[in-house]
Amino acid sequence: MTPSVSVSSKPTLLSPWRRRVQWATSLLLLLLPWLEVGSTSLVRIDIPQLRLYLFGQILRIEELYLVLLFSLMLGLAFLLLTLVLGRVWCGWLCPQTTLSDLAESIGRKFGLQVKQNRLHGLFWRKMLLHLIYLLIAFVVAANLLWYFIEPRQFFIQLINFELHYVAAITLMSTTALIYLDLALVRRLMCSEFCPYGRFQTTLVDKATLTLLLPDSEQHRCIDCGSCLRVCPMEIDIRRGYQIECINCGRCLDACRQVMGRQNEPGLISYAFGTSGVGARGLLNPRVLLLGAATVVLLTLLLLALLDRPAASLQVSVSHAVATRQFADGRQGTFFNAWISNRSQMRASYILSARRSDSGEPLPLKGQVQFQLAPGENRRVDFVLLTPADQQVPIEFLLTDSDGLKLSNATAYIQATPKDVMHE
Ligand code: SF4
Ligand code: SF4
Repeated sequence: MTPSVSVSSKPTLLSPWRRRVQWATSLLLLLLPWLEVGSTSLVRIDIPQLRLYLFGQILRIEELYLVLLFSLMLGLAFLLLTLVLGRVWCGWLCPQTTLSDLAESIGRKFGLQVKQNRLHGLFWRKMLLHLIYLLIAFVVAANLLWYFIEPRQFFIQLINFELHYVAAITLMSTTALIYLDLALVRRLMCSEFCPYGRFQTTLVDKATLTLLLPDSEQHRCIDCGSCLRVCPMEIDIRRGYQIECINCGRCLDACRQVMGRQNEPGLISYAFGTSGVGARGLLNPRVLLLGAATVVLLTLLLLALLDRPAASLQVSVSHAVATRQFADGRQGTFFNAWISNRSQMRASYILSARRSDSGEPLPLKGQVQFQLAPGENRRVDFVLLTPADQQVPIEFLLTDSDGLKLSNATAYIQATPKDVMHE
């Protein structure tokens, strides 16, 4: 005989928590481009300057290895999340699901019905809804552009019709695509087009988190169909695990509400694995290896960021004029230097040179003291004076105003004028 279970008439639901998570992630995506560290953006890709602002770091194109390391680490962390929590990303965090939920929820508030991914109801209500979809699509497209154009600048340029034509075309085409997504595609993206959904089938493990109606609870099912009606993917969870399930938990809530009215607990639950293996099944080689690789990459990335100098220096011989013999017998070699301020503050720098064999200082002619704005990369032209007819190994030094060495570069001056070799 089945023991009778008494539960409170108001079951605990997951939907309010899912909505809070969706609001939080949406607000985060909207607000991130507005946030700054010091006077620089928290996250922004500056295409004209070939710079990436990433959580207080200003990465230039030559430091792309850090971006690759970061992307690789994120990719592995994402795979790990899928292996452990299944499609929780899809149901709780993915912007596509949030937009689909928002589109359908506004549709229902307008008195429309959503059936098989289509809206049914009065024509004028549908028209009004499409205008709202267009507005949402514009905000989302603008939000995407704020990751490339500083938001205040974006609005100033937009109001004055001064947006660069590439930005204007991107804004219009992205708005159109998102509008079509909201109006027509919505859940089809998850079930038909999204590559992650397909890819996920290869990642599901015997202990991956999923929603299920356990065999031991089947006999309590009253076939009310509530779990099927609320499912955005139109899945019947009673038939067992299906790959289209996005782990949103709506069926769980629906069943809890139905069974709650009879003072019984819901039948559907989250579980690690469909065969009752439980969370201990996560201690398998795939999860452990992926977890270890993610931690290693994260450690490497943190070490690389900590080891990153506050400024960089690159020196090369000027292609326009290489060397010149001066009247006092000294040889002048013309150089170009690229100095990059990687910090978030305006900083003063001094460029100097010395023989790398004896440490003897060597004179430089040109601008060797300067200030750079945060993230600025500036070219400096100067002439290095060395004794004629001598081979001189050179070390260029970039120091801050207190004389602290920030970066260096080397070169080698050959004895013969007009023949300068740069290392
Ligand atoms: S089966 Fe349940 S958890 Fe899966 S998509 Fe449908 S409602 Fe969401
Ligand atoms: S909501 Fe619960 S009781 Fe109703 S059909 Fe689904 S599993 Fe059965």
